[in-house]
Amino acid sequence: MIIYNDYEPKTIKLRAITPKGKEIFVNAFLSPSEEEIIVDNEYNSKSVKYQFSTHIRCQMCGKLCDKHQTYYKDSIHICYECNKVLNYNNYLKLPVKKLEFPLFINDKIIFEKEDLEDYI
Ligand SMILES: [Zn+2]
Repeated sequence: MIIYNDYEPKTIKLRAITPKGKEIFVNAFLSPSEEEIIVDNEYNSKSVKYQFSTHIRCQMCGKLCDKHQTYYKDSIHICYECNKVLNYNNYLKLPVKKLEFPLFINDKIIFEKEDLEDYI
């Protein structure tokens, strides 16, 4: 198990010789199995962490989750339950409007309350 929050990919420096014979050095990340390298382009350290992690600790409640069962919102990783709470809280923040007809829903025009009840 590799936990995203605690995992820091190992970095290595690659030595290469260009076709013109010039020696250059390239920074790269080494996979945990040491079978893969990913060249560091200065933008991908988080994606490398994610790629090689198996689990992520929810940054709201601390629950340890399979990384594929987490959500990335507002620059943090959260679990399914915290995502539900966030969505519900966002739902509660929606403005309440008086029901007025006609309503336009998905290319359908609803003229009265009974039609809306049928639609739902
Ligand atoms: Zn959570």
